[in-house]
Amino acid sequence: MAKPKACRECHYLTTENMCPNCNSTNLSTSYTGIVVILPGRTPNEDPRNTSYVADRLNISKPGKYALKVR
Ligand SMILES: [Zn+2]
Repeated sequence: MAKPKACRECHYLTTENMCPNCNSTNLSTSYTGIVVILPGRTPNEDPRNTSYVADRLNISKPGKYALKVR
Protein backbone atom coordinates (compact mmCIF):
# COMPACT_ATOMS: atom_id res chain seq x y z
CA MET A 1 0.00 0.00 0.00
CA ALA A 2 1.28 3.44 -0.92
CA LYS A 3 2.03 5.88 1.84
CA PRO A 4 -0.84 8.32 2.16
CA LYS A 5 -0.29 12.01 1.50
CA ALA A 6 -1.35 14.72 3.91
CA CYS A 7 -3.42 17.70 2.86
CA ARG A 8 -1.66 20.98 3.67
CA GLU A 9 -4.99 22.75 4.07
CA CYS A 10 -6.87 20.46 6.48
CA HIS A 11 -4.25 17.76 7.31
CA TYR A 12 -6.53 14.98 6.00
CA LEU A 13 -4.62 11.83 4.94
CA THR A 14 -5.40 10.45 1.50
CA THR A 15 -3.92 8.17 -1.15
CA GLU A 16 -5.67 10.17 -3.91
CA ASN A 17 -4.17 13.14 -5.74
CA MET A 18 -6.86 15.40 -4.36
CA CYS A 19 -8.06 15.83 -0.80
CA PRO A 20 -11.56 14.29 -0.48
CA ASN A 21 -12.20 16.49 2.55
CA CYS A 22 -11.59 20.00 1.15
CA ASN A 23 -10.85 19.28 -2.57
CA SER A 24 -7.37 20.79 -2.28
CA THR A 25 -4.53 19.41 -4.42
CA ASN A 26 -1.96 20.90 -2.06
CA LEU A 27 -0.73 17.55 -0.68
CA SER A 28 2.50 16.68 1.10
CA THR A 29 4.33 13.40 1.58
CA SER A 30 6.29 14.92 4.45
CA TYR A 31 4.39 14.83 7.72
CA THR A 32 4.74 13.52 11.22
CA GLY A 33 2.20 11.89 13.51
CA ILE A 34 -1.18 10.46 12.64
CA VAL A 35 -4.38 11.14 14.52
CA VAL A 36 -7.59 9.21 13.92
CA ILE A 37 -10.85 10.97 14.70
CA LEU A 38 -13.62 8.41 15.22
CA PRO A 39 -17.22 9.09 14.16
CA GLY A 40 -19.61 10.24 16.85
CA ARG A 41 -22.81 8.53 17.91
CA THR A 42 -24.75 10.37 15.22
CA PRO A 43 -23.33 10.61 11.67
CA ASN A 44 -23.39 14.40 11.50
CA GLU A 45 -22.04 15.02 14.96
CA ASP A 46 -19.21 17.54 15.06
CA PRO A 47 -16.19 15.74 16.60
CA ARG A 48 -15.05 19.09 18.06
CA ASN A 49 -17.92 18.87 20.54
CA THR A 50 -16.79 15.57 22.03
CA SER A 51 -13.08 15.28 21.25
CA TYR A 52 -10.36 17.45 22.78
CA VAL A 53 -7.98 16.48 19.96
CA ALA A 54 -10.50 17.30 17.24
CA ASP A 55 -11.18 20.61 18.94
CA ARG A 56 -7.48 21.52 19.20
CA LEU A 57 -6.80 20.57 15.58
CA ASN A 58 -10.11 22.09 14.43
CA ILE A 59 -11.27 18.88 12.73
CA SER A 60 -14.94 18.87 11.78
CA LYS A 61 -15.13 15.45 10.11
CA PRO A 62 -14.02 12.00 11.36
CA GLY A 63 -11.07 10.44 9.56
CA LYS A 64 -7.29 10.10 9.56
CA TYR A 65 -5.22 13.26 9.87
CA ALA A 66 -1.55 14.17 10.07
CA LEU A 67 -0.47 15.98 13.20
CA LYS A 68 2.20 18.07 11.51
CA VAL A 69 2.48 18.73 7.76
CA ARG A 70 5.62 20.20 6.28
ZN1 LIG B 1 -7.84 18.91 2.75
